[in-house]
Amino acid sequence: MSGELQKLKEHLGKVNDLGKAAAVLDWDLQTYMPAGGADTRSRQLGTLSEMSHELFTADEVGQWLEALAPREAELDYDSDDASLIRVTRRDYEKQRRVPARLVGEIKRAASLGQKAWEQARGESDFSIHRPHLEKLVALRVQWALCFDYEESIYDPMLDDFEPGLTTATVRSVFDAFRPRLVELVSAIAERQERVDASCLKGEFDLEAQKTLGLEALKVMGFDFERGRQDVSAHPFSTSFSSSDVRITTNYHADDFAQAFFGTVHEGGHALYELGVDPALDGSLLGEGTSTTVHESQSRLFENIVGRSRPFWQFFYPQLQTAFPQFKQVELETFYRAINQVGPSLIRIYADEVTYGLHIILRFELEQALVTGELEVADLPAAWNAKMEEYLGLTPPSDAQGVLQDVHWSNAYIGYFPDYLLGSMLSVQLFEKAQEEMPDLTSQIESGRLESLLEWLGTEIHTHGRKFTLDELTDRVLGESLSPEPYLRYLQERYGEIYGL
Ligand code: ZN
Repeated sequence: MSGELQKLKEHLGKVNDLGKAAAVLDWDLQTYMPAGGADTRSRQLGTLSEMSHELFTADEVGQWLEALAPREAELDYDSDDASLIRVTRRDYEKQRRVPARLVGEIKRAASLGQKAWEQARGESDFSIHRPHLEKLVALRVQWALCFDYEESIYDPMLDDFEPGLTTATVRSVFDAFRPRLVELVSAIAERQERVDASCLKGEFDLEAQKTLGLEALKVMGFDFERGRQDVSAHPFSTSFSSSDVRITTNYHADDFAQAFFGTVHEGGHALYELGVDPALDGSLLGEGTSTTVHESQSRLFENIVGRSRPFWQFFYPQLQTAFPQFKQVELETFYRAINQVGPSLIRIYADEVTYGLHIILRFELEQALVTGELEVADLPAAWNAKMEEYLGLTPPSDAQGVLQDVHWSNAYIGYFPDYLLGSMLSVQLFEKAQEEMPDLTSQIESGRLESLLEWLGTEIHTHGRKFTLDELTDRVLGESLSPEPYLRYLQERYGEIYGL
């Protein structure tokens, strides 16, 4: 190994260690930290982010990258070393534009924002959250101004989560998608009598919910020697290395489905991180490549598998054991109930069909916030107006409206579109897996998800950040991300349920 490459790897190892130490503090902040810890924790996280940024953007990193350019050209593009040099250069050129002080300031504000959001949501009081959000939006704009962008200040924010993604691309995909989605939603609305979801109402023992979720994770192939599940206000997943991945959930006594599908969703994220080649640990490459690809994994397990007949053919007896009231309910009734389509208030519990409308709403609002068209003070009203326009519902409280998601409080502005793009990708990937494994459905019916996980592992997980979204779709699918298969999938699955 050349001297420069060795030095670069050792240096990136330290950057990684600081980043992962911050991730542990962040995980703790969202799970176990008492509210009183907020101020000191935000300072600690700010300091770590600033240090890690300074270390990563040091002049010598640039010098090593320059010295390594000829070697990179000789190496196989797919090799770990060429990928490391390539991805480091991409990150380095971006991060060099941002002052360390700003990085630290955003992290401090986001940590305080997280705790303020928890309190604001708990009390359904937007005014608690408002000053934090105003600061976070201003900081995020200041951050985006560090970059050149063609159309919108929102572009660098999209690029932050999905490299290369622009406002124009998202808009053109969503504009084409929305009318056809609305058409499907209204066709289904006329046939509500086809689905009776009353079986999902009742009391569900919290311990039984927990056990059931853990059983589902086991079936999925989640390795409890290398991961664990805890409780947080908003479910999330995080990775400290490919052998230590954390997920969280949130239980509700009157609705088991929320924690269950949330668990399967976060489990999908975790499988991605657990599947990254351990050789990439400690480098910049040792994690999922982008938010869209990440959401494709979680949404694939949550919906395509987790809400499918084949999965429940196998798993329904376990649900009936956990909650004996389902012994009276036919599998088909249950299947339709968990796939009921209808307007709802909360994105993470929305059905697959209306889910897209929740995302489009957030895409429009966050753009308006960062371009200055919308003031934070007017956000709750704008939220409610759009909910009424897109879903015909007015949230009875801000907790069930503008305060439901944690993202903006974490300065994650530019993230939401990737949920819908990831959902689109999940269908393309699953169809490809089915093409290559014609007996996949019967495997799922008998509770064997190993081949699916292995396929995703080989095609996606193992590569970590070596390849971009476009490179992955090109390699795995031979085509780019497209909304068409997703629309067809929604029309088929829900057309069958609702007799369209
Ligand atoms: Zn997710």
